Amino acid sequence: MYIDGHWISDRDTFTVFNPATGEKIGEVIDGNASDARSAIDAADRASATWSSTTAYERSQILYRTHQLMMKEQSALAELMTTEQGKPLKAANNEVKYAGDFLLWYAEEAKRIYGETIPSARADQRFLVHKQPVGVVAAITPWNYPISMITRKLAPALAAGCTVVLKPAESTPLCAVAVIKLLEEAGLPSGVVNLITGRDPQPIGDEFCTNPKVKKLTFTGSTAVGKALAQKCAPQLKRVSMELGGHAPFIVFDDADPVHAAKGVSLVKFLNTGQACISPNRIFVQRSLLEPFLNTLSQRVSALKAGNGLHPENSIGPLINERALEKVEKQVNDAIAKGAILHAGGSRETGDGLDAGFFYSATLLSNVNPEMIIYREETFGPVAAVIPFDNEDEVIDMANDTHYGLAAYIYTNNLSRGLRVFEQLNFGIIGVNDINPTSAAAPFGGMNESGLGREGAREGINEYLETKLGGFSI
Ligand code: NAP
Repeated sequence: MYIDGHWISDRDTFTVFNPATGEKIGEVIDGNASDARSAIDAADRASATWSSTTAYERSQILYRTHQLMMKEQSALAELMTTEQGKPLKAANNEVKYAGDFLLWYAEEAKRIYGETIPSARADQRFLVHKQPVGVVAAITPWNYPISMITRKLAPALAAGCTVVLKPAESTPLCAVAVIKLLEEAGLPSGVVNLITGRDPQPIGDEFCTNPKVKKLTFTGSTAVGKALAQKCAPQLKRVSMELGGHAPFIVFDDADPVHAAKGVSLVKFLNTGQACISPNRIFVQRSLLEPFLNTLSQRVSALKAGNGLHPENSIGPLINERALEKVEKQVNDAIAKGAILHAGGSRETGDGLDAGFFYSATLLSNVNPEMIIYREETFGPVAAVIPFDNEDEVIDMANDTHYGLAAYIYTNNLSRGLRVFEQLNFGIIGVNDINPTSAAAPFGGMNESGLGREGAREGINEYLETKLGGFSI
C-alpha cells in the first residue's frame, strides 16, 4: 500500500495467484478501513497544494508517467498476463490503451475552460469557473487492471483532484506497478494513495461515508455499484459508475455474414469474454444464419486455450473458480433448454490446464429468452446466437435489458445503420465497428450500466465543479 508517499510493508498480507497456473505470484498488504482513513487524510492534506498547481505542471507529470509506462510496456504486459491471464498481445494492447489516457489528459489538463455569460443587466458580469471536486475515492475491477486505473487517475489528476485508489483483490500487483510509475514521474506525496485489501467492504464503506471524500468513481458490477451509490447518497457525494453490460450484436441481412462473423470472433473472445462491452447476445437475421454460423464455428473451433504467455494461445483463463462455474451454469442451462452447441462447451483440463480456470471457446445457436444467458451478463468465452426476422423486432429484443452499455450493428445500408443507432438505448454503439473505444471518446452506459462517462472531454468534467460568479460592477 502507498499512503502519503510511503510504501507500507510491515503488515498482514494476502497472496496473489496466477489464474493460469494456480501459482502464487506475490504478497500484498491486507489493508482495512483505518488504512483507508489514513489515505483519505493524506489525500485531503495534499489537496490544497495539488489543486493550486498549474495545469502545465500537472500535465508534465502525466506526460512523464506516459513515457515511463511506454518504456515499461513489455514488463507491465507480462505482469498483467501473469496476474490476470489475458494473452500477452492483448496485455500489450491494454498497456498502450492505459497510456493513451495519461497522454490524452496531459493535454486536456490545459483545456479546462470556464466561460463568461452575457447578463440582462448592464452592470452585471457572469463568470463560470471550473474547480476540482476535491478528494476522489476510486475502486477498480480486475478485468482491465491497468487501463481502468489510468482511465480514472489521469482525468482526476489533470483536474487537480487527489485520489485514494482501491484496486481489485485479484490484481493488486498491476496497481502497485502503476503507482510506482507515478511516484517515479515525481507525483508529490499524498496526491495518489493506494489501499489494497482482501475484504473490499470496510474500505468501500469508509470511501462512501468519510466526509472528506467528495467523489466516488467505481468500475465493476451493477450490484456493487448500486450498493455503493446508496451508501454515498446521504452525503450527496458525486458518483461515477461504470457498470455491467449485456451487449447486443446485430447482423442484418444486407451485411456480409463472413465479415460479421469475423468481427464477432475477434471481439467476443477478447479477454476470454471478460469485458463489459463484450457481445453477449448475437442477433442474426434468419436468412444469414447458415453462412454466419459456418464461418463463426470454424473460427471459434480454432481458438486455443492456454497460458497467455505462450503466443499460440488466444483464450486465457477465467479469473477464478466462481467465474468458471457461472459460465458452466449458463452453457448447461442453455443446452438443456434447446440451444445448439457448435463448438466448445466444456472446461479445459488437458495439458495441465486443470491447474487454471480454463473454459473452451464456445458457440451456441438457437438461444432464446428463457435461457439464463439471454438475460445475465456472461463474462466468459461464450458466443450466444439468436435468430430474428425484422428490424423492429430486433430493436425491441436488443433494448429488452436493464443494461445499456455497448451495442454493435452490422449493415451495409446507411439509412438502416443510422435508424437503428438512434433507436438503441446504449451508451456506445459500433456500426460495422468492433472497437468503438478510445481515450478521446466518451465511454459509459445508460440505464443500469452506469452514470457518467470516462475518457474524452466528458471524462474530466466528472472531476470538476462548476462555480458561478455574478459580479455587479
Ligand atoms: P465487482 O465484484 O463489482 O468488483 C469491482 C471492484 O469493486 C473490485 O475492486 C472489488 O473488490 C470492489 N468491491 C466489491 N464489493 C465491494 C463492496 N461491497 N464495497 C466496496 N468495493 C467492493 O466486479 P468485478 O467482478 O471485479 O468486475 C466485473 C464487472 O465490472 C462486470 O460486471 C463488468 O461488466 C464491469 N466492468 C465495467 C466496465 C465499464 O467501464 N462499464 C469496465 C470493466 C468492467 P474485490 O476485488 O476485493 O472484491
